[in-house]
Amino acid sequence: MKKNVLYITILCTLLSSQVIAQEVSSIINKSETERVEKFLSSDELEGRRTFSKGIDKAANFIANEFKQAGLNKLNNSNTYLQSFSKLSAKFVSASGTFDGVALDTKNLIVVSAEPIVSINETSGYEVVKINKEDNFGMAARKVLSANANYVVLVDESFANNFSRLVQLKSNITADQKTVVFVLTNNIPSKFTIEATHKIESLALANVVGVIPGKSLANEYVIFSGHYDHLGVNAAKAINGDSIYNGANDDAAGTTAVIMLSKYFKKLNNNERTLIFVAFTAEEVGGYGAQYFSKQFDPLTVKAMFNLEMIGTESKWGKNSAYITGYEKTNMGDILQKNLEGSAFKFYPDPYTDQNLFYRSDNATLARLGVPAHTISTSKMDSEPNYHKPSDEFQTLDMDNMNEIIKAIALSARTIVSGKDTPSRVDTKQLK
Ligand SMILES: [Zn+2]
Repeated sequence: MKKNVLYITILCTLLSSQVIAQEVSSIINKSETERVEKFLSSDELEGRRTFSKGIDKAANFIANEFKQAGLNKLNNSNTYLQSFSKLSAKFVSASGTFDGVALDTKNLIVVSAEPIVSINETSGYEVVKINKEDNFGMAARKVLSANANYVVLVDESFANNFSRLVQLKSNITADQKTVVFVLTNNIPSKFTIEATHKIESLALANVVGVIPGKSLANEYVIFSGHYDHLGVNAAKAINGDSIYNGANDDAAGTTAVIMLSKYFKKLNNNERTLIFVAFTAEEVGGYGAQYFSKQFDPLTVKAMFNLEMIGTESKWGKNSAYITGYEKTNMGDILQKNLEGSAFKFYPDPYTDQNLFYRSDNATLARLGVPAHTISTSKMDSEPNYHKPSDEFQTLDMDNMNEIIKAIALSARTIVSGKDTPSRVDTKQLK
């Protein structure tokens, strides 16, 4: 008797996993995956640069795919486009003095959403120091995200890190307070800082679709990819090709998000609420993900699958991909467990020196503790078409990419059903 029961149980398990596999193949199929990928990476979209006509076309296409799939809109919105504006603060000039001595302008960085900054020691700015033994990145982020104006004296041992702050000057939101960084070992008793910025408001949009959860509607699982890329650059044309199609980066991840939305909508048995999002403006600073992430209480987000460059074979060959920040949560182990018996395998990110965990759209939520990882196959040490006009549809392995999307669908199923909940990122361990 016992034997029979066991036998029947095994048979049922086999049958049900076969049914799942069949359903996956009928919905996530190569011809659909190709159709979506081909359009997103076509010359017609002109490389999907943020603030271009091409990216608007891409956004409308993705929204229409979500509509065809039957997805809901986020928060009763009347559109799949999650529009927002970003202040662009174009740096014009900055100068300053410490105790009457002019500062070298290359040692002065002013981050501000104000067109004119003109301050001195009586202006109520808090003066703080980043000391040699501090974690520079964490300390800089802390003052930038605090709701206060600062003058930050940065120890001269951080000269290399300091020059990287330059990119912050264009990464401004409307609520950004003024933060003045000065590379110096002096503590002034009197100072003056003057800066001017040209402020513009620019329109951006993520594309978001939702499948409400059956019983755990207030718990979210996010599937994301970025749909922007680098656009057209005639000055950097290679063999007469000036369109950066971004077929792999990240039309591939966006295609996966669309295919997964169709799959889970068809299954229609998700206990948790599933959010499918195509982010804008990843390549120019991650603004899409930053805006999107602010709409959620991070504690309600149980997992994020960010899909980035899955169109080429990984360094281990077909049927494999890597997960960034693998060791930071047990999400990778859960995904792996759900693929037991299949030919597919996830590996920890082998390019840890490249900080990929912090370089894609998963990072915003991961920094808030969310198990948010990027899944990729890109050979970051030898991907020949990365950020080149030759990142084209023809260079992708569409069979393999379709298999990867199917594997992601299967690997996610116990998280989607609420049976598994990945452990959270320990934010104290982050860089
Ligand atoms: Zn990318």
